[in-house]
Amino acid sequence: MGIAERYQKVAAEVAEVTVAAGRAPEDVLLVAVSKTVGPDGVAAALEGGTRDFGENRPDQIVPKSQAFPEARWHFIGNIQSRRIPEIVAASSLIHSLYQLRHAEKIERAAAELGKVQDVLIEVNVSGEESKSGVAPADAAALVKACAALPHVRVRGLMTMAPAGDRAAARSAFAGLAALADEIRAELPEAEAVAFTELSMGMSDDWREAIPLGATIVRVGRAIFSESYQE
Ligand SMILES: *Cc1c(COP(=O)(O)O)cnc(C)c1O
Repeated sequence: MGIAERYQKVAAEVAEVTVAAGRAPEDVLLVAVSKTVGPDGVAAALEGGTRDFGENRPDQIVPKSQAFPEARWHFIGNIQSRRIPEIVAASSLIHSLYQLRHAEKIERAAAELGKVQDVLIEVNVSGEESKSGVAPADAAALVKACAALPHVRVRGLMTMAPAGDRAAARSAFAGLAALADEIRAELPEAEAVAFTELSMGMSDDWREAIPLGATIVRVGRAIFSESYQE
């Protein structure tokens, strides 16, 4: 199977699991994480029908978004302050914001480009030290601080679950969904209606994430790696 076929297989499975969870198939967006492939891999996925790609490094998202402007590009990696203008220019959605000082820089970069930057707040639900993200207890304050920035629009939350443990993954996903509900209830109406996205689930655990409310799953290896086994 090539990349286009693997993408179509994953997309069909995502739709199936979404419907089985009692949701409409269009409720979950599949983002193809292309960080391990070059432009040929991106082109193959586009041919398979992908429109949304995820990248975790500025050095990748900048050239790829320029080569494939017909796609939507999602930044899912560590944000380095000095790369923010490039990340903002390239990204339709930034999934990995968790520091106010970065939000303020995104505000300035977006204002300069005349855009409103959609972002998700990354939350370290599991509390693992190796994981980035704001602590759950501090997430609401960060969302509200970002809401004061006119060129930053907080669309929801993102998390990465502990690897290799489905029960722990489920508990992280359920925790993120509950936290999003709490925060939404505290937001003014205008912000609450935009705060709809839960980016959670990767190749090994998207099947756990969708029944727990994921609206975006970020899948890399299952699409782009020939050797990936479920
Ligand atoms: C690499 C990456 C993914 C995709 O992971 P796979 O296990 O390859 O599906 C998803 N989210 C983030 C933040 C990543 O860095």
